[in-house]
Amino acid sequence: MSNTPSLATTDSSQRRAPRAPQRVAASPAPQLPRSGETQLSARQVKKSYRKGQVSIPVLRGVDLEVRRGEFLAIIGQSGSGKSTLLHLLGTLDAPDSGEIHFGGRRIDNLPARDRDALRNRQFGMIFQFYHLLPELTMLENVLAPQMIASGVFQYLRQRKAHVEAATQLLSLVGLEHRLKHKPRELSGGEMQRAAIARALVTGPEVLLADEPTGNLDHQTGREILNLLRTLNRAHHLTICMVTHDLSIAQEADRIVRLAEGQVVEA
Ligand code: ADP
Ligand code: MG
Repeated sequence: MSNTPSLATTDSSQRRAPRAPQRVAASPAPQLPRSGETQLSARQVKKSYRKGQVSIPVLRGVDLEVRRGEFLAIIGQSGSGKSTLLHLLGTLDAPDSGEIHFGGRRIDNLPARDRDALRNRQFGMIFQFYHLLPELTMLENVLAPQMIASGVFQYLRQRKAHVEAATQLLSLVGLEHRLKHKPRELSGGEMQRAAIARALVTGPEVLLADEPTGNLDHQTGREILNLLRTLNRAHHLTICMVTHDLSIAQEADRIVRLAEGQVVEA
């Protein structure tokens, strides 16, 4: 018999539970977060965009500390640089100068490959317009980051466990009846719930949320905020949410304001 693992292997004896869903979908973690400890930070971060010959400064030396286990809201007017800052925190983009630190180490200057891995494993991201893949079902959308994180070969070996875990996450966000639906068959609130499940599937420590209720009616927006609050409280997920809406921000533990390229306590 060959020792080469079969692609079809789903035998439970060879299955290890995927790490992500364990973290969020299981009951609350036994260890409480060491609250107050800085988990993610921006230090003197500057970022400009070039328009023709002109350089337009957006962030002019941002200092920000996100503490482990907190639900932080960053408010600011449209165009103040909130999305820019969130992208820098999540290493989707690099600052012109300054540094981003996560878990005690600098991350903005890591090689692209390490940044990709970090983003895939440690940061979940959700956006105003969900960014679900239209041709995939909800279950497939949620499984996609897991496939990227594990690599296809490893993913297929543990496919059954991954599917179970993704299904559990979709249940956690209230979508157990929508596993096989495509995004166009869902409401905005349901799409955002699926996007949250997708963001959590690899077990991130931090959720970065860019105007997560910005496309939703008031009631649905509140439901999404309640879900975020539950994930923060019951599952110790650190949340950093940007919004232009003060009433949304007031649901967070702490609010900071981005204005004139800098962050100040609100
Ligand atoms: P917010 O999320 O607070 O509305 P953004 O971070 O999206 O603000 O944008 C801040 C400013 O930077 C805006 O003036 C916007 O037009 C500009 N900007 C954002 N991204 C780019 C880009 N990729 N190229 C050029 N300008 C950009
Ligand atoms: Mg924005």
